[in-house]
Amino acid sequence: MRAEIVAIGTELTNGQKLDTNSAWLSRRLLELGVTPYWHTTLPDDMETILAALDLARQRADLVVITGGLGPTFDDLTREALARLAGVELVLHEPSLRHLEEMFARRGRPMPERNRVQAMLPRGAEVLPNPLGTAPGIWLTVPRHPCACPTEQKPWNLSLAKPRTLLIALPGVPSELQAMWQTEVAPRLQQQLQLGLVIRERTLHCFGLGESALEEKLGELTRRGRNPEVGITASDATISLRLVARAPCEAEALALLDADEAFIRQQLGDLVFGTGEEELQHAVARLLEQTGLTLATAESVTGGLIASRLTQVPGVSRFYRGGLVAYQTAIKANVLGVPMALLEQYGAVSAPVAEAMAARARQLFQADLAVATTGVAGPDSDERGHPVGLVYIGLAWSDAARSCEVRWLGTRLEIQSRAAKSALNEVRLHLLQVARATN
Ligand code: AMP
Ligand code: MG
Repeated sequence: MRAEIVAIGTELTNGQKLDTNSAWLSRRLLELGVTPYWHTTLPDDMETILAALDLARQRADLVVITGGLGPTFDDLTREALARLAGVELVLHEPSLRHLEEMFARRGRPMPERNRVQAMLPRGAEVLPNPLGTAPGIWLTVPRHPCACPTEQKPWNLSLAKPRTLLIALPGVPSELQAMWQTEVAPRLQQQLQLGLVIRERTLHCFGLGESALEEKLGELTRRGRNPEVGITASDATISLRLVARAPCEAEALALLDADEAFIRQQLGDLVFGTGEEELQHAVARLLEQTGLTLATAESVTGGLIASRLTQVPGVSRFYRGGLVAYQTAIKANVLGVPMALLEQYGAVSAPVAEAMAARARQLFQADLAVATTGVAGPDSDERGHPVGLVYIGLAWSDAARSCEVRWLGTRLEIQSRAAKSALNEVRLHLLQVARATN
């Protein structure tokens, strides 16, 4: 089962807007066992759309289209589908009533132009859109412009499937997603009778490079294995994506559980979370578990650690606050790092990182504090420290430690990775505390 996703909108092809729908739809299709083979992005241009849809219907079994269902003249998807199917657009009364109701609820008259949103290709099924004005379209068309079997090309192996299913959904991501979940996915599941469920799980790791991590996993990442395990690196976070295929959900989940257990055994504390979790979520969870409070003192990361921590709902119970102590004078006069220390070792040094953390801990009356100082670049500092050198200080009940990390990358990448390193140090410390108290 090969799928193609067609995203329509000039704002997408000219780079003003990122096509997030295609990525989202791909993931949903994979969950259903349908493999997306092509992503096509098109401008609002009838000839281009028709040519692309004509190609898509020939090479794919399922084509999911997003965008171009609005009421304006540049919204061409309805018309293109009708032309492709060789049918005319006809008024769909229930959709017109829904449109009128939508406008009535907002106390506005319906512009005449919106009527076109209720004009749908004859013979199409209509997918209601409770959140918006544009209904979706579910339609099959002959795989070939001329559907007679004798004219089918020899390379077309899908003789058994002489028709291609086209599904058009609105471009607005919230509408598209809601309609997919309530209308499209259940119908697809039913109609395709796939007999195969696909479940995926992602484990996130921090603290080791991609290849070193892969080495620890032996044969796990071999291609063709079930579950399939893929490794991706994003901003120094290494993610393992497990995709299991099985006849039923329970079997797929059991396969995932087994692999997850093996990975956790091999990688230990390198694994910090699953799914959408980031390092700050792992830190917040451990703060909650240990009942400890945290403070930050940031130089090179400029508040990134604080920003990430405060993204986590409910973290105010554990994260007391932080200070961006950027200039040396602020490190000395506001944070209270001894001037002698700053002069002797320089602002970018292990002793200063530890002192920053110790002072932040006192200032914010926290159980634990983390600090960063380093060189984000593009130039090395006045003492000649290389770009990417960062010291992370950690202070807790009258003890402190620090570590040195060296990151490569642009200024923003170094800052981001240094913030992750700092969050990771906090996480590792909290893991020890949690274990000691258990
Ligand atoms: P349309 O359905 O073409 O009228 O698009 C409605 C809104 O959804 C516009 O703000 C588009 O920029 C947005 N949109 C359309 N296609 C996509 C897409 N593939 N990814 C993200 N947003 C989109
Ligand atoms: Mg558009």
